[in-house]
Amino acid sequence: MEQQTPTFSSLSRTRIPSEALSAWVFYLGLSSVALSCVISWELFAISLLLHLVSFWLMVTTGRTPGYLKTGSDDEAGLRRCEVCNIGQPLRTKHCHDCKQCVATFDHHCFWIGACVGEKNHRRFLIMLLALSVSITLDLTLLITDILTMENKRFLKILYIVCSVLLSFPALLTLVLTSYHTYLICTAQTTWENLSRLSITYLQDVPFSVCLFSKGLIGNVAEFINRGTSEVPFRWEPQWKVGDPVPFSLCDNDYWNCC
Ligand SMILES: [Zn+2]
Ligand SMILES: [Zn+2]
Repeated sequence: MEQQTPTFSSLSRTRIPSEALSAWVFYLGLSSVALSCVISWELFAISLLLHLVSFWLMVTTGRTPGYLKTGSDDEAGLRRCEVCNIGQPLRTKHCHDCKQCVATFDHHCFWIGACVGEKNHRRFLIMLLALSVSITLDLTLLITDILTMENKRFLKILYIVCSVLLSFPALLTLVLTSYHTYLICTAQTTWENLSRLSITYLQDVPFSVCLFSKGLIGNVAEFINRGTSEVPFRWEPQWKVGDPVPFSLCDNDYWNCC
């Protein structure tokens, strides 16, 4: 019997929740205050461009996560999704928010109103990087203006309030960017990293083993090429039972702290 391979759905579902959209608009409002501190036109132009790029990425990233096409009735050897009735390639997960299977599922993102998966993880990281730089620039502009401002008490208070409010998304974005950079360097997804014990193909894998890791350069190169093919990538585990287990600070022959 010929093996069929699930392909990507052409359906694009992006429904950004109104709460997330409101938070984005509020953030853009704070940013526009920062943009009003025109220290130099070059910085102003860079900051404005980054805001436009990050907002455009926020709107478009959720359109193509890598939903699998339903209707294929025979995918030999693959685990089946009972909801979509489709064979799931390794690292695929059904998203109950999107009601579809997502190849190389990472997580369902509240901020873009869709999943992050095989086809849009790279774009998601670019969005995080653009946001990290633009918020850092916002804070730099505001703090520089606060420190150099004289005899403008009301404006100074406004800038201080904006700086405090912007420090929350700044922290969130920097933490998320660092976390996703770590995941990419170790060839993991958020789902695999946080739900390791409940994932069948990871349950018997030692804590210190990243099952799909091909080394730092291999992992980054693979990530850059992710989502370019029209069928989900067939993942090959890089470790099997009996292979040497790398040393882990958390779980080794002498102690176990997890
Ligand atoms: Zn499904
Ligand atoms: Zn989803």
